[in-house]
Amino acid sequence: MRPDLDPEQLDRYSRHIIMDDVGPAGQAALLDTDVLVVGAGGLGAPVLQYLAAAGVGRLGVVDDDTVERSNLQRQVIHADSDVGRPKVDSAREFVTDLNPDVTVDTHELRLSADSAVDLVDDYDIVVDASDNFATRFLVNDVCTLAGVPFSHGAVFRFEGQVTTFTDEGACYRCLFPKAPPAGTVPDCATAGVLGVLPGTIGCLQATEVLKLAMDYGDPLSGRLLAFDAGSMSVDEVPIAKRPDCPVCGEDPAIGAVSEASYEGRCEL
Ligand SMILES: [Zn+2]
Repeated sequence: MRPDLDPEQLDRYSRHIIMDDVGPAGQAALLDTDVLVVGAGGLGAPVLQYLAAAGVGRLGVVDDDTVERSNLQRQVIHADSDVGRPKVDSAREFVTDLNPDVTVDTHELRLSADSAVDLVDDYDIVVDASDNFATRFLVNDVCTLAGVPFSHGAVFRFEGQVTTFTDEGACYRCLFPKAPPAGTVPDCATAGVLGVLPGTIGCLQATEVLKLAMDYGDPLSGRLLAFDAGSMSVDEVPIAKRPDCPVCGEDPAIGAVSEASYEGRCEL
């Protein structure tokens, strides 16, 4: 790739460019990368913040919610004056204000099997920053079938987890073949979450995206980091590829997202 950065970009990204492992070519790669962020909430906020600051050239934002005051304890790209506005609008304003190099595509919708395939096809990397199992399974199936790498993050009270799925390792359904029955796993609204925790996990997701975009280092493929803020400890859990996985296994039952259901229990 030809590093053709203008003087303002050489200044803005100087702390990247000065590193041998990034350099002008790495920065040009970031500017040339398209990332779809599913969810502009607790995880999506730091992901968008740091990808924008780093100069990832195009960010897609998917969210159908409006900003509520109870979001502001952790969703740091939205402000008190944004309460009642669509999250995609305040996310876009935050990003363009931070870095005018970044193009933002807003998708004010809830990801569905109908919309997800074309949407994902338009991006290089996907970040699952959603808060529900239906979306997690949908993102997994669309990305795995399309061969698009994606970062998974989740938070719960004082605990979080993060991993990266690439076509070289296991997928989310290798970890969880199907979603738990609706209502058995509480979400942030019912369980609560320490405000900074999605920041910690979202920053790890953003780190993984920058590495993938620059083809640097070792992604969290086949490994899940489980973070406990209470004990301030991190465990690394291996994720094995399952031969009987319904999406990436030897005889997959799901060949297209139209063959699976993503409502309620997310069962086949
Ligand atoms: Zn799998």
